[in-house]
Amino acid sequence: MNVGFIGLGQMGKHMSNRILGAGFNLTVYDISREAAQPILEKGAKWANSAKEVAQNTQVVITMLPTPQDIEQAVNGPDGLKAGWKKGDIYVDMSTNAPSTIKRIAEDAKSLGVSVLDAPVSGGTRGAELGTLTIMAGGDTEALEKVRKVLESMAQKVFSVGVVGNGNVAKLINNMLAIANGLVASEGFVLGVKAGIDPQVLWDIISVSTGNSWNLSQFPNTVFKGNWAPMFRLNLALKDIGLAVQLAKENGVPVQIGALAEQKLIEARAAGLGDKGIDSAIVRLEELTGVQVRTKGK
Ligand code: NAD
Repeated sequence: MNVGFIGLGQMGKHMSNRILGAGFNLTVYDISREAAQPILEKGAKWANSAKEVAQNTQVVITMLPTPQDIEQAVNGPDGLKAGWKKGDIYVDMSTNAPSTIKRIAEDAKSLGVSVLDAPVSGGTRGAELGTLTIMAGGDTEALEKVRKVLESMAQKVFSVGVVGNGNVAKLINNMLAIANGLVASEGFVLGVKAGIDPQVLWDIISVSTGNSWNLSQFPNTVFKGNWAPMFRLNLALKDIGLAVQLAKENGVPVQIGALAEQKLIEARAAGLGDKGIDSAIVRLEELTGVQVRTKGK
């Protein structure tokens, strides 16, 4: 099976590597040729546009930052749509707006192309190790055809119903994860200000009811002051914005999610947008005059 991959950033570089490692023929494209260099050196083929990827493969995967980037890759000049053939399968693995991918799927149907939205959870480490969780919305027949490709990147592949539902699940996951991370930041700034060692507090909470996946990341991020952009704050802000938008569309109040969005808007305004999401704690550290770092860091 010839597989195409578009978007070779923090996540895509690892995910494409897993697909190639599983023995699939891989053709890649990114607006930055430099981003593709490592995977080209491992044997992937370069395409000059998204259109060329579609022309040369049966299955195309995108892993792009925002709904606007996905629109551009599909419908822009030399986009996927111009290269699709009847029977092709398009899998968008980005975190996208359900409404955007539904519209794209409706459009693709008239060309005989099946669309799945299959966003992922597990971060860059999960992408590197091939242990992602994939939540796939769309036609189950198309899902079965690409299952082996998806399984090369994931530990778990969930089928979640119609196209768009993958992103409904993903946006809810990220609303929870982001809110958990922000409240963990408040707890740890409070702990340090009140005089407790952050490592001691972490040792306790990580085996107690206040634990969360985000808190499990703190020893590698907050405690070291490591704001490397594995998951950029701007992307987290995009995700929580899409979750709040989805809640509006469905008439569901999500006050804590909306508050989390405001906290990230504030962090972006403070210049943290291109840093890792955990850097959102810096605002509160500056306000309170304490830093949540472990000894020797
Ligand atoms: P990134 O910004 O590191 O990478 C995106 C890549 O896409 C870049 O190489 C960029 O040059 C390329 N690109 C942008 N527009 C393009 C276009 N029109 N055509 C071709 N290439 C284009 O982003 P990332 O962190 O890898 O995230 C990608 C997606 O995955 C996002 O939707 C994000 O929300 C989601 N996600 C990220 C993480 C994470 O931990 N980083 C985890 C789960 C999901």
